[in-house]
Amino acid sequence: MQTDFDVAVIGLGAMGSMALWQLAEDGLNVIGFEQFGVGHDRGAVGGETRLFRRMQTSRPDYTPIIDIARRQWHNLQEFSSVQLLTETGGLTVGPANDPRLIAFRTAARGAGVETETLDRKEMNDRFPEHWLDHDEVGIFDPTQGFIRCEQAVLTAVARARALGANVQDYSKVRIEHSTADGVILTDGPREWKAKKVIITTGSWSGDHLDAELRGRSRPGRIRLTWFTPLPGHDFGPATFPVFDRLVSDGILYGAPSLDGGGSVKIAPGGAPTDISDPDDYLRGQSVDEIRYMEEHVARYFPGLHQSPIRACAWTDFYVDDWIPFLGLLPGSENVVLANGFAGFGFKMCPAIGRIAADLVQGKIETKFQFMDPSRTIVTRLTQAGPMLR
Ligand SMILES: Cc1cc2nc3c(=O)[nH]c(=O)nc-3n(C[C@H](O)[C@H](O)[C@H](O)COP(=O)(O)OP(=O)(O)OC[C@H]3O[C@@H](n4cnc5c(N)ncnc54)[C@H](O)[C@@H]3O)c2cc1C
Repeated sequence: MQTDFDVAVIGLGAMGSMALWQLAEDGLNVIGFEQFGVGHDRGAVGGETRLFRRMQTSRPDYTPIIDIARRQWHNLQEFSSVQLLTETGGLTVGPANDPRLIAFRTAARGAGVETETLDRKEMNDRFPEHWLDHDEVGIFDPTQGFIRCEQAVLTAVARARALGANVQDYSKVRIEHSTADGVILTDGPREWKAKKVIITTGSWSGDHLDAELRGRSRPGRIRLTWFTPLPGHDFGPATFPVFDRLVSDGILYGAPSLDGGGSVKIAPGGAPTDISDPDDYLRGQSVDEIRYMEEHVARYFPGLHQSPIRACAWTDFYVDDWIPFLGLLPGSENVVLANGFAGFGFKMCPAIGRIAADLVQGKIETKFQFMDPSRTIVTRLTQAGPMLR
């Protein structure tokens, strides 16, 4: 048995890496476990970038969390050799009277974000790579941007290590025994003891939940595709910032080219595909999925080659009401859950790490209790989830 730790973090993806970093900053004796290598591209981290915005259209309660996250992104950046959060502004494009566009404007107003509405001509002057129909507009939100997701995880873990955290990679652990006295964790041959545990296992969280919560949550598959610009077209951050594109049968979203014009990320938004096993799902894409993207890219982004150069899939964990689990594991005094971030959690992960670190030290803030795993979870929602990433 290894020395007693104050806190153990299971899973060093987006949330776990940040929780480990925050706990190490608090001066605690911490250990983090990752079943793969740190910064791996399975689960919910991978694909170069994540969209950042100050608000989620699904609930205004996320804005204060994202504001904490923004400050933490800037703190973390000090220890990174690359810029983690780049705030270029971002666009939401679609029919002026589309209820989703109206919901976006309302959420922006509620969060105190001053947006700019650009008509078709103004869009063509400033952001010419977006094709607009006569009744469509673009809304520019100056607070949006993108985060380098793999580097963010690597930087948080490196910082935690520098502060003394113990990191066990390629180590899949489970809780063997938990009492008020402490928790015993094992990866099979080895055992560790910690006073408290934070479970940040993302898509693999079903293994750690009771039957009730497991029945209310599941992993989902999310797709990303990359396209190459045609000669003479500029998809760099200045003219092609992050965006959401409302289309009649869904949403597309994407990020600028970060490799000097070699590839541009454009992906389908909206609900994921349910999967039963995060270790066994289609990590590529079917012909129908690729055809869907080709048709939409040909129509809305005519400056790109229609055929994607990369088409992949990752996973995230979803609760039926699309609200994460953040709080004590029901029935436990020393295990905190932080998972179920439903395809929109990356932007807020440093704040979630901070809140989880506070929770495990007994500091509870009522404004975050809407995510308490003991809440009553409504029947499964399929459409009302976080509309935009
Ligand atoms: C393709 C895609 C695009 C997205 N786009 C955006 C976006 O634009 N903006 C945004 O804000 N959010 C976005 N998200 C959502 C965001 O990335 C996720 O909500 C967030 O990364 C979830 O973090 P997590 O820590 O819960 O899960 P993960 O990051 O998957 O981390 C879980 C970790 O736990 C490890 N683990 C699991 N079980 C064990 C175990 N027993 N022992 C040890 N380790 C274990 C896993 O290996 C993994 O590293 C996107 C997600 C995906 C998949």
